[in-house]
Amino acid sequence: MLKIDLKGKRVFVAGIADDQGYGWAIAKALAEAGAEIIIGTWTPLLKIFTQSWAAGKFDESRQLSNGKMFEYLKVYPLDASFDKPSDVPQEIRENKRYADVQRYTISEIAEDVGNDFGKIDYIVHALANAPEVKKPLLETSRSGYLAASSSSAYSFVSLVQHFGPRLNHGGAAISLSYIASERVVPGYGGGMSSAKAALESDTRTLAWEAGRKWGIRINVISAGALRSRAARAIGSAGAVSFIDCMIDYAKANAPLTKDLDAEEVGQAAAFLLSPLASAITGVTLYVDNGVHAMGVAVDSPAMRVYQGEENPALTTA
Ligand code: NAD
Repeated sequence: MLKIDLKGKRVFVAGIADDQGYGWAIAKALAEAGAEIIIGTWTPLLKIFTQSWAAGKFDESRQLSNGKMFEYLKVYPLDASFDKPSDVPQEIRENKRYADVQRYTISEIAEDVGNDFGKIDYIVHALANAPEVKKPLLETSRSGYLAASSSSAYSFVSLVQHFGPRLNHGGAAISLSYIASERVVPGYGGGMSSAKAALESDTRTLAWEAGRKWGIRINVISAGALRSRAARAIGSAGAVSFIDCMIDYAKANAPLTKDLDAEEVGQAAAFLLSPLASAITGVTLYVDNGVHAMGVAVDSPAMRVYQGEENPALTTA
């Protein structure tokens, strides 16, 4: 039987602060495959995450198919906008949600994970942030744009730089992108579309450089819309949120009209990281019910020629 077996593998998953997002789904799928999980949680959310975990708020989501509970080896504070302590501005240092925490920059956490666990196998980048995400690109400031690129795209380059030497040969890294990197998705603003385009381009260049340097693979999943905490923050027009529109749009227009489950992205991530994908690197893998393949929105009134009960193009499975 061909199965994903990650027993003995260790993974650093950056970008989990609750059980609603892709980071959680990926970590859980990797745990299902037997991997051991190390978490990086955004520094200001670390306390709430660990308290919620301890209070049992994630217990239902922690159930694994073998009857055990999903556990992590250790959770570290992480602010992926900073590479080293001297990058951290005074106002962040003094912020009360950072004040109690000593080490949270990417270089420090890579070093700490190395000291605590030695070499690991995989890294997952499941984080993004754009302070001006609600603004169209035309209204985005330089600082907003650069902040989006810094925390959503360069953070992956930095993670690979710092964890690369600490990954076993045959290791791999993945990140998560969105179709707005290559097609216009109104509402996905603040330079996030640009950051995702950079993330996908960097995946190819890093695949080459890190493949030659450390023998590791680099891939990115372009995931479909999910109602995560970050996605809910993108904004709304009146009562309808951006993310709900995107979910409805995909259901109306994608080749597959079923719901997209975060677990499906988790399973694709487990495959991409695993030795089953040992010849796959530099790839953007779409896990989105196929919506990326469409050139038109079939539910547009302009497509009425293709609409109608007798038309198989619109028949749902
Ligand atoms: P999420 O809220 O679960 O994850 C985003 C995480 O990023 C949060 O845990 C947040 O705390 C963390 N974060 C933000 N800034 C950070 C920083 N500076 N340092 C460290 N962590 C930071 O939401 P999600 O939607 O599952 O996002 C995970 C990834 O999936 C992101 O890259 C996102 O762009 C991508 N993605 C999401 C969707 C979607 O529809 N939700 C679609 C495609 C791709």
